[in-house]
Amino acid sequence: MFRKVEFMEKLLNDHMPYAGEDRIAEIRRLAESLGNLRVLHVNSTSYGGGVAELLYTIVPLMRDAGLDAEWHVIDGVPDEFFDVTKKIHNSLQGAQTPLGDREWCLYEDVNMKLAKAFPRGPWDVVIIHDPQPLAVLAFLDSVPESERPVVDRWFWRCHIDLSTPLDDTWHRLWPYVNEYDGAIVTSRAYARDEIAIPVAEITPSTDPTSPKNLPIPEDEARQMMVSFGIATDRPLIVQVSRFDPWKDPFGVVESYRILKKKWPDLQLAMVGSIAADDPEGIGILAKLKEDAEEDGDIHVLSNEDGVGAREVAGFQQCADVVIQKSTREGFGLTITEAMWKGRPVVAGNATGCKLQISDGEDGFIVKTTEQCAARIDEILEDPDLGARLGEKARETVRRRFLSTQHVMNYLNLFAGRL
Ligand code: UDP
Repeated sequence: MFRKVEFMEKLLNDHMPYAGEDRIAEIRRLAESLGNLRVLHVNSTSYGGGVAELLYTIVPLMRDAGLDAEWHVIDGVPDEFFDVTKKIHNSLQGAQTPLGDREWCLYEDVNMKLAKAFPRGPWDVVIIHDPQPLAVLAFLDSVPESERPVVDRWFWRCHIDLSTPLDDTWHRLWPYVNEYDGAIVTSRAYARDEIAIPVAEITPSTDPTSPKNLPIPEDEARQMMVSFGIATDRPLIVQVSRFDPWKDPFGVVESYRILKKKWPDLQLAMVGSIAADDPEGIGILAKLKEDAEEDGDIHVLSNEDGVGAREVAGFQQCADVVIQKSTREGFGLTITEAMWKGRPVVAGNATGCKLQISDGEDGFIVKTTEQCAARIDEILEDPDLGARLGEKARETVRRRFLSTQHVMNYLNLFAGRL
């Protein structure tokens, strides 16, 4: 029921040009003081979405720092489990969709089975990401002691915007959270009163050395856009996201339609992937494709059209404006990635967007589709404004959201300093 994820080696030294020599030395010192710490990360998918993206960098960098870090995903669980956990995810973000008894039964039944099959370790630290495997720890009590994993410290890492959860779902889950030794949230704003264990704040990060972030030569990037049917001499706005209601894909199309009246040449690319643990995306993608059929300048593209990491980078790099019109967002890596590329980003008024963008300084925060269209219009009218916002955006990411900072924060947590 668990599968160990294989990943490419990553080296801290490759991050030196971005993070500086001192930061890398600091990480090595701290890791050394922790000894050969055995760390296990567990989440629900190795493909699609921000958590997988993060772990492909954080885990290998922890290893290079000297920790014995592994990443396992839950595996072989019924498809309906992910329908249920997506509903949990949505209602934790405020959707008015309580789960029924049968759904809770399935959630708990799978977590009980996961508890029985949990990798035995021994582990010094286990980090369980998000709600899918959250209840595992509570169910370990029902596993015979001789078959239980040996774990020193358990952390629950929540990537979700918990600022307005549906009470029904949250009250069912928080007792599971309090089984842990500590919780990790992206922002203190998500640390709800019911959480009685120590809470650490760690923001996610982007990897400047990943194919997602490496600059693509201009010619090649242009060629790439042409291969997806995009005209490179006309303005392009882009949203890169899972096809998820909280990313407000239809709001993006609406903003584009408002703009199209003034900018008849405007093109919109909606670039997304279907994550293995996100069954909801398929329906949204189909609906967006229907919209796109009526307008040749709306391009809806997914991994099925050959959009991989490098293509995502190409779209972010070539966009005149990057949109992330989320209504809820724990932390939008797509925003960080676009900011790192020096692009102006117009993002929704969600806590996770506001954690990254200071409105008017290094991007824009908008509340409505009309405002979104108006801010995009301002940037299209004044490319210098876009360049200024983009330049500051890159600096914000350099200061606060690089992977090395993220690893450092984890090490401080393991050392009991967070
Ligand atoms: N992503 C991707 N291909 C896509 C769409 C998204 O590789 O077609 C990546 C994106 O670049 C980012 C991550 O998936 O690294 C999405 O993370 P984010 O935090 O923005 O959102 P989440 O999906 O976790 O809600």
